[in-house]
Order: sequence, then structure tokens, then C-alpha cells
Amino acid sequence: MEDCVFCKIIKGEIPSDKVYEDEEILAFKDINPAAPIHILVIPKKHIPSLVELEQGDEEIIGKIYRIINKIAKEQGIDNKGFRVIVNCGKDGGQEVNHLHFHLLGGKQLGEKIV
Ligand code: AMP
Ligand code: ZN
Repeated sequence: MEDCVFCKIIKGEIPSDKVYEDEEILAFKDINPAAPIHILVIPKKHIPSLVELEQGDEEIIGKIYRIINKIAKEQGIDNKGFRVIVNCGKDGGQEVNHLHFHLLGGKQLGEKIV
């Protein structure tokens, strides 16, 4: 999508601090980290949010969790733990309309809602 900041990151039009990339998935450090480790994991396919998931997207969502597992181990937070958050829509507080998984860790995470 032309005006999507994450699509621009994927295309290299906006710089990012990449931690993982393959043909389908990109992971990069959040520009405004909420924890010592705050990485965004996104599909390269422009899926606006969880609401727009289509049949056939199951594979990429499953793969994203496998990459989160790999990154958590590489970042050394697999033993102490971490949190994965997907904000969706207005009430969910989603600000960037390209599906993204927040991987947060490196400290005791507060403000537990559920
Ligand atoms: P959300 O509120 O769930 O839509 O999360 C969007 C996240 O994207 C926020 O945590 C922002 O800090 C992050 N973000 C926005 N622009 C960039 C960027 N250019 N590079 C890295 N992270 C970004
Ligand atoms: Zn996009």
C-alpha cells in the first residue's frame, strides 16, 4: 500500500533496525520502545488488521509465531518470558494499519489487562 509506513519499511523507503527478514516476514525494532526489547514482526503482505485476515493467511500467522519464538531465543528472553500484543482497530489502539505483532520483553512488564 502506497501510504503505509510499514510497507515503506519493507520496500526500504524508510530505514529500520531489522532483526529478521525472509521473503514473507520482516521483524524490526520499534522506534518508540515500551520495553528494553520491543520488536515488531509483520507479514510483508499488506494485511490492514486482524479483521482483514483472509482464507490462506493462516500459514503466515503461524509462521510469524515461529519467528517470534526464534527471535525471543536470539534476544535471550525465552527463559524469563515476554509478551506478544496485537492491537486491532480504534478500541484496540491500533495506530499503524498494517498487521503487526509487538514482541515485548527484557523487564517485568506492567499494566496487565488480562
Ligand atoms: P500500534 O499502536 O499497535 O499500531 O503500533 C504501532 C507501532 O509502530 C508503535 O509502537 C510505533 O512506535 C511503531 N512505529 C511507527 N513507526 C515506526 C517506524 N518508522 N519504525 C519503527 N517503529 C515504528
Ligand atoms: Zn502496509
